[in-house]
Amino acid sequence: MLRNDQLDQWDRDNFFHPSTHLAEFARGNVPNRIVTGGQGCHIEDREGNKLLDAFAGLYCVNVGYGRKDIAEAIADQARELAYYHAYVGHGTEASITLSKMILDRAPKGMSKVYFGLSGSDANETNIKLVWYYNNILGRPEKKKIISRWRGYHGSGLMTGSLTGLELFHKKFDLPLTQVIHTEAPYYYRRDNLDLTPEQFTAHCAAELEALIEREGADTIAAFIGEPVLGTGGIVPPPPGYWEAIQAVLNKHDILLIADEVVTGFGRLGTMMGSDHYGLKPDLITIAKGLTSAYAPLSGSIVGDKMWKVLEQGTDENGPIGHGWTYSAHPIGAAAGVANLKLLDELNLVQNAGEVGAHFQKALHDALDAHPNVGEVRGEGMMAAVEFVADRDSRTFFDPSKKVGPSVAAALLSRGVIGRAMPQGDILGFAPPFCLTREEAEEVAGKTAEAVKEVL
Ligand code: PLP
Repeated sequence: MLRNDQLDQWDRDNFFHPSTHLAEFARGNVPNRIVTGGQGCHIEDREGNKLLDAFAGLYCVNVGYGRKDIAEAIADQARELAYYHAYVGHGTEASITLSKMILDRAPKGMSKVYFGLSGSDANETNIKLVWYYNNILGRPEKKKIISRWRGYHGSGLMTGSLTGLELFHKKFDLPLTQVIHTEAPYYYRRDNLDLTPEQFTAHCAAELEALIEREGADTIAAFIGEPVLGTGGIVPPPPGYWEAIQAVLNKHDILLIADEVVTGFGRLGTMMGSDHYGLKPDLITIAKGLTSAYAPLSGSIVGDKMWKVLEQGTDENGPIGHGWTYSAHPIGAAAGVANLKLLDELNLVQNAGEVGAHFQKALHDALDAHPNVGEVRGEGMMAAVEFVADRDSRTFFDPSKKVGPSVAAALLSRGVIGRAMPQGDILGFAPPFCLTREEAEEVAGKTAEAVKEVL
């Protein structure tokens, strides 16, 4: 084992941390946290602090930490066959079994699963498939992709462009040309405060339709959206939103990509977020909850309509020229099989719905009355608390005050991890599905204490 001071030095000298203020880290102003273990909903750091992780890592350790069943499945697979590729018809029992298990849990009308490693690469795959599809159909102009402001779809060249958050665009010269953004279904931050939720839904659908008409439907291939906006602030849509959006997309023959990287496999208390909101997607992106992050694995679930055209494309053009060395990696696939079994055996999706509802209520009870809490919102095991300088006018705090990060730090000092979301003063929660009612109340109670300390 390395000495602590040695580890700190090596960390600062060698390790490029993602999503980190690099200069402040180098100056020692961003504390490093070295995580050494985890069990259930808790992680432990090298100082021996036991922390209740109410964000499940990056909303991904859905079954909780320390699951031996998954660890053993990974070890067995590594001993038997750590790797073989999936090109030209190759596979393993784990990858084939997992593709069947995913389709058994997906909405009706889905046909095949393409495996990748991360949510970002799965979305890159989806966009390539959409373009391929329209080329095979002889519609080479139908290529633009619509995403929403505040949507998060990854950090790749295309997926970073689709992401509608300024931080992920700034100074990167992403190729935004094929991407157009439309309004986020963010009722609390609507421009016209007189609108009811239903009227706001109609407004979002009308905005989308106006955008499509401006650009020309024959130039637009697909719309991508998370059932519940995640990194953009944990924002469930207003009532009827998805029904209205799907009606517009169908009218203009635009494909729907449901980005279920966060909502897939139970986070909203239903197996998929598409089930929760009645979505009928042409493609579904899955990642995080597929393996509960015990190993990296993602997938693009392809619907029947697209699949037929992809087959036709290979008849006309030969094998599809898209593959990763690690597509359907056997260790990831073994983790996925064990993870999905565990979700069923322990009724964790049901628990996410039931304890999730209890958690939402506990947050409302603890925080609604505070004058700087603008809104408490959420669905299932996703929740957010948005802070405002003034409740009536919904005025933002001066960003230099860093209210979100300060509340997250005050909460951490009480042994609970929440996430200061990257845009706006929003504290996010997405706990593991094994959260108990008592733990849900602990998170809510300690959040109220943290808010009182900061505001
Ligand atoms: N899509 C959504 C909805 C996400 O929340 C994320 C990551 O948080 C991604 C895509 C990208 O996934 P990854 O970080 O695995 O590339």
